[in-house]
Amino acid sequence: MVRVKRKHVTKHIFITGGVVSSLGKGITAASLALLLKRRGYRVKMQKLDPYLNVDPGTMNPYEHGEVYVTDDGAETDLDLGHYERFSGIPCSQASNYTSGGIFLDVLNRERRGDYLGKTVQVIPHITNEIKAAISSLSGPDVDIAITEIGGTAGDIESLPFLEAIRQYRQEIGRENGLFMHLTLLPYISAAGEMKTKPSQQSVGILRGIGIFPDMLVCRCERPMEDEHRDKLAMYCNVPRELVFEECDVENTIYEVPLELAKQDLDIYTLELLGLHVRTLELTDWKQMVDTYVEPVNGEVEIAVVGKYMSLNDAYKSIYESLTHAGIGNSVGVKVRRIEAQDLEKDGDCKQLEGVDGVLVPGGFGQRGVEGKICAIQWARENNVPFFGICLGMQSAVIEIARNVCGFKDGNSHEFDPDSQHKVVHLMADQHDVTDMGGTMRLGAYPCVLEKGSKAADAYGAKKISERHRHRFEVNNEFRDALSAKGVVFSGVSPDGHLVEIMEFADHPWFVACQFHPEFKSTPLKAHPLFKDFVNASMNIKINKEE
Ligand code: GLN
Repeated sequence: MVRVKRKHVTKHIFITGGVVSSLGKGITAASLALLLKRRGYRVKMQKLDPYLNVDPGTMNPYEHGEVYVTDDGAETDLDLGHYERFSGIPCSQASNYTSGGIFLDVLNRERRGDYLGKTVQVIPHITNEIKAAISSLSGPDVDIAITEIGGTAGDIESLPFLEAIRQYRQEIGRENGLFMHLTLLPYISAAGEMKTKPSQQSVGILRGIGIFPDMLVCRCERPMEDEHRDKLAMYCNVPRELVFEECDVENTIYEVPLELAKQDLDIYTLELLGLHVRTLELTDWKQMVDTYVEPVNGEVEIAVVGKYMSLNDAYKSIYESLTHAGIGNSVGVKVRRIEAQDLEKDGDCKQLEGVDGVLVPGGFGQRGVEGKICAIQWARENNVPFFGICLGMQSAVIEIARNVCGFKDGNSHEFDPDSQHKVVHLMADQHDVTDMGGTMRLGAYPCVLEKGSKAADAYGAKKISERHRHRFEVNNEFRDALSAKGVVFSGVSPDGHLVEIMEFADHPWFVACQFHPEFKSTPLKAHPLFKDFVNASMNIKINKEE
Protein backbone atom coordinates (compact mmCIF):
# COMPACT_ATOMS: atom_id res chain seq x y z
CA MET A 1 0.00 0.00 0.00
CA VAL A 2 1.31 3.43 -0.87
CA ARG A 3 1.23 5.79 2.06
CA VAL A 4 0.35 9.31 1.15
CA LYS A 5 1.79 11.76 3.65
CA ARG A 6 -0.86 14.33 4.43
CA LYS A 7 0.22 17.93 3.99
CA HIS A 8 0.37 19.85 7.24
CA VAL A 9 -2.30 22.51 7.45
CA THR A 10 -2.27 25.34 9.98
CA LYS A 11 -5.80 25.88 11.26
CA HIS A 12 -6.95 29.44 11.92
CA ILE A 13 -9.17 30.92 14.58
CA PHE A 14 -10.37 34.50 14.08
CA ILE A 15 -11.67 36.32 17.12
CA THR A 16 -13.83 39.41 16.66
CA GLY A 17 -15.51 41.60 19.25
CA GLY A 18 -19.00 43.02 19.37
CA VAL A 19 -21.15 45.63 21.15
CA VAL A 20 -18.42 47.44 23.11
CA SER A 21 -14.65 47.51 23.43
CA SER A 22 -12.75 46.38 26.54
CA LEU A 23 -14.57 43.06 26.71
CA GLY A 24 -11.35 41.18 27.30
CA LYS A 25 -10.87 39.71 23.84
CA GLY A 26 -7.15 39.45 24.55
CA ILE A 27 -7.75 37.46 27.72
CA THR A 28 -10.22 35.19 25.93
CA ALA A 29 -7.79 34.61 23.07
CA ALA A 30 -4.94 33.98 25.53
CA SER A 31 -7.07 31.56 27.56
CA LEU A 32 -8.02 29.60 24.47
CA ALA A 33 -4.35 29.47 23.44
CA LEU A 34 -3.44 28.05 26.84
CA LEU A 35 -6.12 25.36 26.61
CA LEU A 36 -5.17 24.35 23.07
CA LYS A 37 -1.50 24.26 23.97
CA ARG A 38 -2.24 22.11 27.00
CA ARG A 39 -4.08 19.76 24.65
CA GLY A 40 -0.80 19.26 22.86
CA TYR A 41 -1.14 21.68 19.94
CA ARG A 42 1.46 24.14 18.71
CA VAL A 43 -0.24 27.51 18.78
CA LYS A 44 0.75 30.99 17.59
CA MET A 45 -1.05 34.23 18.23
CA GLN A 46 -1.50 37.57 16.58
CA LYS A 47 -3.39 40.81 17.05
CA LEU A 48 -4.52 43.05 14.19
CA ASP A 49 -5.19 46.61 15.32
CA PRO A 50 -7.26 48.97 13.18
CA TYR A 51 -5.67 52.28 14.27
CA LEU A 52 -3.37 54.27 12.00
CA ASN A 53 -0.28 54.48 14.18
CA VAL A 54 2.35 52.23 12.62
CA ASP A 55 2.85 50.64 16.03
CA PRO A 56 1.88 51.70 19.56
CA GLY A 57 5.52 52.64 20.33
CA THR A 58 4.96 56.37 19.92
CA MET A 59 1.63 56.47 21.77
CA ASN A 60 1.11 57.98 25.19
CA PRO A 61 0.17 55.23 27.69
CA TYR A 62 -2.97 57.19 28.52
CA GLU A 63 -4.11 56.57 24.92
CA HIS A 64 -3.59 52.89 24.60
CA GLY A 65 -2.07 51.46 27.77
CA GLU A 66 1.45 50.10 28.04
CA VAL A 67 3.63 49.21 25.10
CA TYR A 68 4.56 45.55 25.32
CA VAL A 69 7.97 44.59 23.94
CA THR A 70 8.83 41.19 22.45
CA ASP A 71 12.22 39.45 22.39
CA ASP A 72 12.74 40.46 18.77
CA GLY A 73 12.13 44.11 19.62
CA ALA A 74 8.57 44.71 18.42
CA GLU A 75 6.71 47.47 20.27
CA THR A 76 3.25 46.00 20.50
CA ASP A 77 -0.24 46.08 21.92
CA LEU A 78 -0.58 45.08 25.56
CA ASP A 79 -2.81 42.13 24.65
CA LEU A 80 0.35 40.36 23.56
CA GLY A 81 1.36 40.46 27.20
CA HIS A 82 -1.74 38.42 28.03
CA TYR A 83 -0.91 36.01 25.21
CA GLU A 84 2.57 35.36 26.55
CA ARG A 85 1.62 35.30 30.23
CA PHE A 86 -1.26 32.87 29.79
CA SER A 87 0.09 30.57 27.13
CA GLY A 88 3.84 30.91 27.54
CA ILE A 89 3.98 31.10 23.73
CA PRO A 90 6.47 33.77 22.63
CA CYS A 91 5.22 36.57 20.40
CA SER A 92 7.28 38.32 17.75
CA GLN A 93 7.17 41.03 15.08
CA ALA A 94 4.59 38.87 13.28
CA SER A 95 2.26 39.01 16.26
CA ASN A 96 0.99 42.57 15.90
CA TYR A 97 0.00 44.53 12.82
CA THR A 98 -1.82 47.86 12.65
CA SER A 99 -3.67 49.54 9.79
CA GLY A 100 -0.91 52.14 9.84
CA GLY A 101 1.80 49.52 9.35
CA ILE A 102 -0.14 47.77 6.60
CA PHE A 103 -0.89 51.04 4.75
CA LEU A 104 2.72 52.18 5.12
CA ASP A 105 3.98 49.01 3.45
CA VAL A 106 1.50 49.29 0.62
CA LEU A 107 2.21 52.99 0.07
CA ASN A 108 5.99 52.48 0.15
CA ARG A 109 5.56 49.81 -2.48
CA GLU A 110 3.38 52.10 -4.55
CA ARG A 111 6.10 54.79 -4.42
CA ARG A 112 8.69 52.27 -5.55
CA GLY A 113 6.50 51.49 -8.54
CA ASP A 114 5.91 47.89 -7.50
CA TYR A 115 2.28 47.97 -8.61
CA LEU A 116 3.28 48.65 -12.20
CA GLY A 117 0.82 51.44 -12.83
CA LYS A 118 -2.22 49.71 -11.34
CA THR A 119 -4.76 51.59 -9.25
CA VAL A 120 -3.93 50.77 -5.62
CA GLN A 121 -7.05 50.02 -3.57
CA VAL A 122 -8.20 48.80 -0.17
CA ILE A 123 -9.46 45.67 -1.90
CA PRO A 124 -7.34 43.89 -3.03
CA HIS A 125 -4.08 45.61 -2.05
CA ILE A 126 -4.67 46.37 1.60
CA THR A 127 -6.65 43.17 2.17
CA ASN A 128 -3.91 41.12 0.45
CA GLU A 129 -1.37 42.66 2.75
CA ILE A 130 -3.52 41.75 5.77
CA LYS A 131 -3.90 38.21 4.46
CA ALA A 132 -0.12 37.98 4.08
CA ALA A 133 0.20 39.08 7.73
CA ILE A 134 -2.20 36.34 8.78
CA SER A 135 -0.50 33.66 6.75
CA SER A 136 2.89 34.69 8.16
CA LEU A 137 1.73 32.88 11.30
CA SER A 138 1.14 29.57 9.57
CA GLY A 139 3.80 27.00 8.77
CA PRO A 140 4.87 23.42 9.42
CA ASP A 141 5.61 24.20 13.07
CA VAL A 142 2.19 25.72 13.80
CA ASP A 143 -0.99 23.70 14.27
CA ILE A 144 -3.32 26.52 15.21
CA ALA A 145 -3.00 30.26 14.58
CA ILE A 146 -5.20 32.57 16.61
CA THR A 147 -5.82 36.03 15.16
CA GLU A 148 -7.59 38.63 17.27
CA ILE A 149 -9.10 41.60 15.44
CA GLY A 150 -8.93 44.77 17.52
CA GLY A 151 -11.91 47.12 17.72
CA THR A 152 -15.60 46.33 17.57
CA ALA A 153 -17.77 45.00 14.73
CA GLY A 154 -19.30 48.04 13.06
CA ASP A 155 -16.23 50.30 13.35
CA ILE A 156 -15.36 51.87 10.01
CA GLU A 157 -11.69 51.24 10.66
CA SER A 158 -12.03 47.48 11.16
CA LEU A 159 -13.65 46.87 7.79
CA PRO A 160 -10.51 45.99 5.78
CA PHE A 161 -9.53 43.48 8.49
CA LEU A 162 -12.95 41.88 8.55
CA GLU A 163 -13.01 41.67 4.77
CA ALA A 164 -9.55 40.09 4.84
CA ILE A 165 -10.52 37.39 7.35
CA ARG A 166 -13.69 36.71 5.38
CA GLN A 167 -11.61 36.11 2.25
CA TYR A 168 -8.99 34.15 4.15
CA ARG A 169 -11.50 31.68 5.58
CA GLN A 170 -13.14 31.38 2.18
CA GLU A 171 -9.77 30.41 0.71
CA ILE A 172 -8.73 27.90 3.38
CA GLY A 173 -12.19 26.36 3.76
CA ARG A 174 -14.58 25.95 6.67
CA GLU A 175 -12.73 22.96 8.07
CA ASN A 176 -9.53 24.97 8.44
CA GLY A 177 -10.77 28.19 9.95
CA LEU A 178 -13.41 29.41 12.35
CA PHE A 179 -14.91 32.67 13.48
CA MET A 180 -15.37 33.22 17.19
CA HIS A 181 -17.30 36.32 18.20
CA LEU A 182 -16.93 37.75 21.68
CA THR A 183 -19.93 39.79 22.63
CA LEU A 184 -21.63 41.44 25.59
CA LEU A 185 -24.90 40.53 27.29
CA PRO A 186 -25.68 43.65 29.30
CA TYR A 187 -27.72 43.37 32.46
CA ILE A 188 -30.34 46.10 32.74
CA SER A 189 -30.88 46.44 36.46
CA ALA A 190 -34.02 48.60 36.19
CA ALA A 191 -35.66 45.79 34.21
CA GLY A 192 -33.87 43.05 36.15
CA GLU A 193 -33.00 41.42 32.84
CA MET A 194 -30.06 40.38 30.76
CA LYS A 195 -30.35 41.43 27.13
CA THR A 196 -29.33 39.53 24.00
CA LYS A 197 -30.39 42.16 21.45
CA PRO A 198 -27.04 44.03 21.17
CA SER A 199 -25.34 40.70 20.48
CA GLN A 200 -27.90 39.77 17.86
CA GLN A 201 -27.28 43.12 16.18
CA SER A 202 -23.54 42.76 16.33
CA VAL A 203 -23.74 39.31 14.72
CA GLY A 204 -26.06 40.94 12.18
CA ILE A 205 -23.32 43.44 11.28
CA LEU A 206 -20.85 40.61 10.72
CA ARG A 207 -23.30 38.62 8.63
CA GLY A 208 -23.92 41.72 6.51
CA ILE A 209 -20.27 41.63 5.48
CA GLY A 210 -20.16 37.91 4.93
CA ILE A 211 -18.84 36.64 8.25
CA PHE A 212 -21.06 34.05 9.93
CA PRO A 213 -19.69 33.43 13.43
CA ASP A 214 -19.26 29.73 14.22
CA MET A 215 -19.27 30.26 17.95
CA LEU A 216 -20.26 32.99 20.38
CA VAL A 217 -18.57 33.77 23.66
CA CYS A 218 -20.81 35.98 25.77
CA ARG A 219 -19.38 38.30 28.39
CA CYS A 220 -21.82 38.83 31.22
CA GLU A 221 -21.96 40.01 34.80
CA ARG A 222 -24.14 37.13 35.92
CA PRO A 223 -24.76 33.62 34.56
CA MET A 224 -26.78 33.22 31.39
CA GLU A 225 -30.13 31.44 31.52
CA ASP A 226 -31.30 28.78 29.06
CA GLU A 227 -33.61 31.29 27.43
CA HIS A 228 -30.66 33.56 26.55
CA ARG A 229 -28.75 30.71 25.02
CA ASP A 230 -31.81 29.65 23.02
CA LYS A 231 -32.43 33.16 21.73
CA LEU A 232 -28.82 33.72 20.73
CA ALA A 233 -28.66 30.33 19.01
CA MET A 234 -31.81 31.03 17.06
CA TYR A 235 -31.23 34.65 16.06
CA CYS A 236 -27.50 34.33 15.45
CA ASN A 237 -27.65 31.04 13.58
CA VAL A 238 -25.21 29.32 15.92
CA PRO A 239 -25.83 25.85 17.38
CA ARG A 240 -26.92 26.09 20.99
CA GLU A 241 -23.87 24.23 22.29
CA LEU A 242 -21.61 26.74 20.58
CA VAL A 243 -22.93 29.65 22.65
CA PHE A 244 -20.50 29.99 25.58
CA GLU A 245 -20.63 32.15 28.63
CA GLU A 246 -17.73 34.17 29.97
CA CYS A 247 -18.97 35.57 33.23
CA ASP A 248 -16.94 38.09 35.23
CA VAL A 249 -14.57 36.01 37.36
CA GLU A 250 -14.51 36.38 41.11
CA ASN A 251 -10.82 36.77 41.94
CA THR A 252 -8.38 36.89 39.07
CA ILE A 253 -8.26 36.89 35.27
CA TYR A 254 -6.27 33.65 35.55
CA GLU A 255 -9.58 31.93 36.39
CA VAL A 256 -10.88 32.58 32.87
CA PRO A 257 -9.21 29.55 31.21
CA LEU A 258 -10.62 27.30 33.95
CA GLU A 259 -14.12 28.66 33.43
CA LEU A 260 -13.91 28.22 29.66
CA ALA A 261 -12.52 24.70 30.07
CA LYS A 262 -15.51 23.79 32.25
CA GLN A 263 -17.72 24.51 29.24
CA ASP A 264 -15.40 22.55 26.89
CA LEU A 265 -14.76 25.58 24.71
CA ASP A 266 -11.46 24.03 23.63
CA ILE A 267 -13.05 20.67 22.80
CA TYR A 268 -15.70 22.24 20.58
CA THR A 269 -13.02 24.39 18.93
CA LEU A 270 -10.89 21.36 18.10
CA GLU A 271 -13.89 19.45 16.80
CA LEU A 272 -14.92 22.31 14.52
CA LEU A 273 -11.38 22.37 13.14
CA GLY A 274 -11.32 18.59 12.67
CA LEU A 275 -8.49 18.10 15.17
CA HIS A 276 -8.17 15.27 17.70
CA VAL A 277 -9.18 16.04 21.24
CA ARG A 278 -6.24 15.08 23.41
CA THR A 279 -6.23 15.17 27.22
CA LEU A 280 -6.06 18.44 29.10
CA GLU A 281 -3.80 18.92 32.12
CA LEU A 282 -4.38 22.04 34.20
CA THR A 283 -3.39 20.98 37.72
CA ASP A 284 -0.55 23.50 38.03
CA TRP A 285 -2.79 26.29 36.74
CA LYS A 286 -5.49 25.43 39.29
CA GLN A 287 -2.93 25.37 42.09
CA MET A 288 -1.63 28.75 40.97
CA VAL A 289 -5.13 30.24 41.13
CA ASP A 290 -5.69 28.63 44.57
CA THR A 291 -2.47 30.20 45.86
CA TYR A 292 -3.57 33.58 44.56
CA VAL A 293 -6.94 33.25 46.27
CA GLU A 294 -5.58 31.97 49.58
CA PRO A 295 -1.93 32.88 50.11
CA VAL A 296 -0.44 31.51 53.31
CA ASN A 297 1.90 34.42 54.07
CA GLY A 298 -0.57 37.26 54.54
CA GLU A 299 -0.18 40.45 52.54
CA VAL A 300 2.43 43.04 51.67
CA GLU A 301 1.81 46.52 50.39
CA ILE A 302 3.93 47.82 47.54
CA ALA A 303 3.95 51.43 46.38
CA VAL A 304 4.16 51.88 42.62
CA VAL A 305 5.32 55.43 41.97
CA GLY A 306 4.67 56.43 38.36
CA LYS A 307 2.98 59.00 36.19
CA TYR A 308 -0.03 57.29 34.65
CA MET A 309 -1.56 55.96 37.83
CA SER A 310 -5.23 56.43 37.05
CA LEU A 311 -5.14 54.05 34.09
CA ASN A 312 -4.89 50.39 34.99
CA ASP A 313 -3.52 49.45 31.57
CA ALA A 314 -0.62 51.94 31.66
CA TYR A 315 1.53 49.63 33.83
CA LYS A 316 -0.28 46.38 33.04
CA SER A 317 2.74 44.08 33.01
CA ILE A 318 4.14 45.66 36.18
CA TYR A 319 0.92 44.99 38.11
CA GLU A 320 0.69 41.48 36.69
CA SER A 321 4.31 40.75 37.60
CA LEU A 322 3.66 41.87 41.18
CA THR A 323 0.70 39.49 41.27
CA HIS A 324 2.95 36.69 39.98
CA ALA A 325 5.58 37.51 42.59
CA GLY A 326 2.84 37.32 45.23
CA ILE A 327 1.84 33.88 43.97
CA GLY A 328 5.52 32.85 43.91
CA ASN A 329 5.88 33.82 47.57
CA SER A 330 2.34 32.79 48.53
CA VAL A 331 1.64 36.29 49.75
CA GLY A 332 -1.05 38.77 48.73
CA VAL A 333 0.29 41.91 47.08
CA LYS A 334 -1.63 45.10 47.59
CA VAL A 335 -0.56 47.95 45.35
CA ARG A 336 -0.60 51.56 46.54
CA ARG A 337 -0.60 53.68 43.40
CA ILE A 338 1.19 56.96 43.85
CA GLU A 339 1.36 59.80 41.32
CA ALA A 340 5.02 60.81 41.34
CA GLN A 341 4.07 64.42 40.73
CA ASP A 342 2.08 64.52 43.96
CA LEU A 343 5.23 63.73 45.94
CA GLU A 344 6.80 66.84 44.39
CA LYS A 345 3.82 68.96 45.41
CA ASP A 346 3.78 67.59 48.94
CA GLY A 347 7.54 68.03 49.30
CA ASP A 348 7.70 64.93 51.45
CA CYS A 349 6.96 61.25 51.17
CA LYS A 350 4.12 60.93 53.67
CA GLN A 351 2.11 59.04 51.07
CA LEU A 352 4.69 56.27 51.21
CA GLU A 353 4.46 55.69 54.92
CA GLY A 354 3.63 52.12 55.88
CA VAL A 355 4.45 50.48 52.55
CA ASP A 356 6.68 47.40 52.57
CA GLY A 357 8.36 48.08 49.23
CA VAL A 358 8.69 50.80 46.59
CA LEU A 359 8.71 50.17 42.85
CA VAL A 360 9.50 52.88 40.32
CA PRO A 361 8.64 51.73 36.78
CA GLY A 362 9.86 52.97 33.41
CA GLY A 363 8.79 56.16 31.72
CA PHE A 364 9.63 59.06 29.49
CA GLY A 365 9.76 62.81 29.95
CA GLN A 366 10.29 65.21 32.79
CA ARG A 367 6.89 65.10 34.50
CA GLY A 368 7.08 63.31 37.83
CA VAL A 369 10.81 62.52 37.73
CA GLU A 370 11.64 64.60 40.81
CA GLY A 371 8.84 62.80 42.70
CA LYS A 372 10.29 59.44 41.70
CA ILE A 373 13.70 60.56 42.94
CA CYS A 374 12.15 61.58 46.30
CA ALA A 375 10.49 58.18 46.61
CA ILE A 376 13.79 56.43 45.92
CA GLN A 377 15.61 58.53 48.50
CA TRP A 378 12.88 57.72 51.01
CA ALA A 379 13.20 53.97 50.32
CA ARG A 380 17.00 54.09 50.51
CA GLU A 381 17.13 56.07 53.74
CA ASN A 382 14.38 54.08 55.43
CA ASN A 383 15.74 50.66 54.41
CA VAL A 384 12.56 49.86 52.53
CA PRO A 385 13.07 47.42 49.61
CA PHE A 386 13.32 49.30 46.33
CA PHE A 387 12.98 48.03 42.80
CA GLY A 388 13.66 50.37 39.88
CA ILE A 389 12.92 49.58 36.27
CA CYS A 390 14.40 51.45 33.29
CA LEU A 391 13.68 55.12 34.11
CA GLY A 392 13.33 53.80 37.67
CA MET A 393 16.98 52.70 37.53
CA GLN A 394 18.11 55.92 35.91
CA SER A 395 16.31 57.87 38.64
CA ALA A 396 18.02 55.75 41.30
CA VAL A 397 21.41 56.60 39.82
CA ILE A 398 20.48 60.30 39.83
CA GLU A 399 19.28 60.07 43.43
CA ILE A 400 22.50 58.46 44.65
CA ALA A 401 24.64 60.85 42.57
CA ARG A 402 22.92 63.82 44.20
CA ASN A 403 22.40 62.65 47.75
CA VAL A 404 25.25 60.22 48.36
CA CYS A 405 28.00 61.36 45.98
CA GLY A 406 27.19 65.06 46.43
CA PHE A 407 26.73 65.91 42.73
CA LYS A 408 23.98 68.39 43.44
CA ASP A 409 23.05 68.93 39.78
CA GLY A 410 23.24 65.20 38.98
CA ASN A 411 20.70 64.41 36.27
CA SER A 412 19.89 62.63 33.03
CA HIS A 413 20.54 64.29 29.70
CA GLU A 414 16.83 63.66 29.04
CA PHE A 415 15.86 66.17 31.75
CA ASP A 416 18.80 68.57 32.00
CA PRO A 417 21.16 68.61 29.02
CA ASP A 418 23.19 71.38 30.72
CA SER A 419 23.96 69.52 33.94
CA GLN A 420 27.67 69.16 34.79
CA HIS A 421 26.95 65.70 36.17
CA LYS A 422 24.96 63.88 33.51
CA VAL A 423 25.13 60.52 35.27
CA VAL A 424 22.64 59.23 32.69
CA HIS A 425 23.25 60.16 29.08
CA LEU A 426 22.14 59.39 25.55
CA MET A 427 23.50 56.13 24.13
CA ALA A 428 26.13 56.70 21.44
CA ASP A 429 24.01 55.28 18.62
CA GLN A 430 21.06 57.52 19.53
CA HIS A 431 22.71 60.88 18.77
CA ASP A 432 21.70 61.00 15.12
CA VAL A 433 18.22 59.57 15.57
CA THR A 434 15.52 61.86 14.23
CA ASP A 435 12.61 59.45 13.71
CA MET A 436 10.97 58.56 17.02
CA GLY A 437 9.22 55.35 15.88
CA GLY A 438 10.99 52.03 16.49
CA THR A 439 14.42 53.59 17.03
CA MET A 440 15.12 52.91 20.71
CA ARG A 441 17.35 50.07 21.91
CA LEU A 442 14.63 47.44 21.67
CA GLY A 443 14.21 43.78 22.52
CA ALA A 444 16.38 41.10 24.04
CA TYR A 445 20.04 41.66 24.89
CA PRO A 446 22.32 39.56 27.08
CA CYS A 447 23.57 40.65 30.48
CA VAL A 448 26.29 39.17 32.66
CA LEU A 449 25.77 39.07 36.42
CA GLU A 450 28.26 39.65 39.20
CA LYS A 451 28.71 36.64 41.48
CA GLY A 452 27.35 37.12 44.96
CA SER A 453 25.12 40.06 44.03
CA LYS A 454 21.41 40.19 44.80
CA ALA A 455 20.70 39.92 41.08
CA ALA A 456 22.84 36.80 40.69
CA ASP A 457 21.14 35.31 43.76
CA ALA A 458 17.72 36.02 42.31
CA TYR A 459 18.42 34.53 38.89
CA GLY A 460 20.69 31.71 40.04
CA ALA A 461 22.55 32.23 36.76
CA LYS A 462 25.61 34.00 35.39
CA LYS A 463 24.21 35.18 32.10
CA ILE A 464 20.65 36.28 31.39
CA SER A 465 18.68 37.83 28.55
CA GLU A 466 16.09 40.55 29.08
CA ARG A 467 13.99 42.91 26.98
CA HIS A 468 14.79 46.58 26.57
CA ARG A 469 13.21 49.85 25.47
CA HIS A 470 15.37 52.90 26.08
CA ARG A 471 17.55 55.63 24.57
CA PHE A 472 19.57 56.62 27.64
CA GLU A 473 22.08 54.69 29.77
CA VAL A 474 24.30 55.13 32.83
CA ASN A 475 27.23 57.35 31.93
CA ASN A 476 30.37 55.24 32.38
CA GLU A 477 32.41 58.32 33.33
CA PHE A 478 30.65 58.29 36.70
CA ARG A 479 30.83 54.58 37.40
CA ASP A 480 33.89 54.83 39.65
CA ALA A 481 32.48 57.71 41.67
CA LEU A 482 29.21 55.85 42.19
CA SER A 483 30.96 52.55 43.03
CA ALA A 484 33.12 54.34 45.62
CA LYS A 485 29.90 55.27 47.45
CA GLY A 486 28.39 51.80 47.54
CA VAL A 487 26.78 51.31 44.14
CA VAL A 488 27.34 47.83 42.73
CA PHE A 489 26.99 47.45 38.98
CA SER A 490 25.91 43.85 39.26
CA GLY A 491 24.71 43.36 35.69
CA VAL A 492 26.46 44.64 32.58
CA SER A 493 26.44 43.90 28.85
CA PRO A 494 28.93 41.12 27.92
CA ASP A 495 31.46 43.75 26.73
CA GLY A 496 31.10 45.50 30.09
CA HIS A 497 30.13 48.83 28.52
CA LEU A 498 26.46 49.13 29.37
CA VAL A 499 25.02 49.06 32.87
CA GLU A 500 22.08 46.69 33.00
CA ILE A 501 21.63 46.28 36.77
CA MET A 502 22.72 48.37 39.74
CA GLU A 503 22.37 47.72 43.47
CA PHE A 504 23.06 49.75 46.56
CA ALA A 505 25.20 47.73 48.94
CA ASP A 506 24.24 49.16 52.29
CA HIS A 507 20.56 48.31 52.09
CA PRO A 508 18.28 45.26 52.62
CA TRP A 509 17.20 45.16 48.93
CA PHE A 510 17.91 48.01 46.54
CA VAL A 511 18.04 46.67 42.99
CA ALA A 512 17.30 48.43 39.71
CA CYS A 513 17.59 47.37 36.10
CA GLN A 514 17.79 49.08 32.73
CA PHE A 515 15.67 46.38 31.07
CA HIS A 516 12.01 45.51 31.54
CA PRO A 517 11.68 42.30 33.56
CA GLU A 518 7.91 42.73 33.67
CA PHE A 519 7.63 41.47 30.09
CA LYS A 520 8.90 38.04 31.01
CA SER A 521 7.02 37.24 34.19
CA THR A 522 4.25 34.64 34.10
CA PRO A 523 1.76 33.49 36.73
CA LEU A 524 3.34 30.04 36.80
CA LYS A 525 6.87 31.44 37.00
CA ALA A 526 7.27 34.82 38.62
CA HIS A 527 10.20 36.85 37.35
CA PRO A 528 13.18 36.30 39.70
CA LEU A 529 13.71 40.02 40.42
CA PHE A 530 10.02 40.64 41.14
CA LYS A 531 9.92 37.49 43.25
CA ASP A 532 12.92 38.49 45.35
CA PHE A 533 11.70 42.08 45.66
CA VAL A 534 8.36 40.92 47.06
CA ASN A 535 10.18 38.40 49.24
CA ALA A 536 12.41 41.14 50.66
CA SER A 537 9.32 43.28 51.31
CA MET A 538 7.70 40.35 53.07
CA ASN A 539 10.75 39.90 55.31
CA ILE A 540 10.81 43.60 56.17
CA LYS A 541 7.18 43.38 57.17
CA ILE A 542 7.77 40.30 59.34
CA ASN A 543 10.71 42.07 61.05
CA LYS A 544 8.56 45.14 61.68
CA GLU A 545 5.86 43.03 63.28
CA GLU A 546 8.21 41.07 65.53
N1 GLN B 1 13.33 57.59 29.10
C1 GLN B 1 14.35 56.65 29.43
C2 GLN B 1 15.16 56.22 28.21
O1 GLN B 1 14.72 56.39 27.09
C3 GLN B 1 13.75 55.43 30.11
C4 GLN B 1 12.92 54.60 29.18
C5 GLN B 1 12.03 53.62 29.90
O2 GLN B 1 11.83 53.72 31.11
N2 GLN B 1 11.46 52.69 29.16
O3 GLN B 1 16.24 55.69 28.38
